[in-house]
Amino acid sequence: MTMIEDTKTGKPVKRDYSHNANIAATAPAFLSVWNIEAYYGESYIVQDVSFNVHEGEILALLGRNGAGKTTTLRAIARTDDPTLHGGEIWLDHQPLHLMRSHEASVQGIQLVPEDRRIIPGLTVEENLKLAQIAPPIGWSLDRLYELFPRLGERRTQEGVTLSGGEQQMLSIARALARDIKVLLLDEPYEGLAPVIVDEIEKMLNIIKEQGITTVIVEQNAVRALMLADRAVILDTGIVVFDGTAKEVLDDEALRAEYLAI
Ligand code: ATP
Repeated sequence: MTMIEDTKTGKPVKRDYSHNANIAATAPAFLSVWNIEAYYGESYIVQDVSFNVHEGEILALLGRNGAGKTTTLRAIARTDDPTLHGGEIWLDHQPLHLMRSHEASVQGIQLVPEDRRIIPGLTVEENLKLAQIAPPIGWSLDRLYELFPRLGERRTQEGVTLSGGEQQMLSIARALARDIKVLLLDEPYEGLAPVIVDEIEKMLNIIKEQGITTVIVEQNAVRALMLADRAVILDTGIVVFDGTAKEVLDDEALRAEYLAI
């Protein structure tokens, strides 16, 4: 367990990253998030957060409501909000911190946001084709329909009329329609019945087998930990744990303190 506590107060303190200082300059992981500081306007939300994601793994980014998980994902995807005031983000030797979101997307980062953003007025297939309007193009429609047969069956149906689970599948499929290296998933299981979560979990494992790296933010921490190889836990904008998913599942006190499970 790698949680660090203040010896006087017993409260968690920022992790000591001295062992991997200069992480970006020396041996960067596939995706390195290094001392990032992200703001919404004047609000300092993500405060010096660092973690590595290895190629081909699934990392669960966990923490209570308001811990800064979505903000961290959005910072990695280089959305306009939040703004990055410090730190570096490297993907496969490319400096994402110097890029705008469309440039980060070309480098292979795709964010699947919590609200799924299916485009109204377009069919399932048109939503997918729109993602392929410009390079880099990823999976073919046939390959996407093979992974998500329900989308194939509903290819001519308007995307926003799909069930919640199907809309989540469409949102993930649309990310794979681009040539991606890292899938950033924000609350993919939200509002879905356990049986649909099972289905999406199977698909995420298949996507992993295809070599794609995934970062998943999820309130359903147990399900995310069952899927993930490693976990990073945030609390009020700082990293309080960085280790294996199994360590978190096995540590009742840690789960109770930071995940309320
Ligand atoms: P949740 O599970 O509730 O979404 P989270 O860990 O993803 O939690 P964030 O959404 O990153 O947390 O929010 C972190 C903090 O940033 C919260 O205090 C939130 O109120 C604040 N925040 C989020 N979005 C904005 C915004 N657009 N403008 C200002 N503050 C924001």
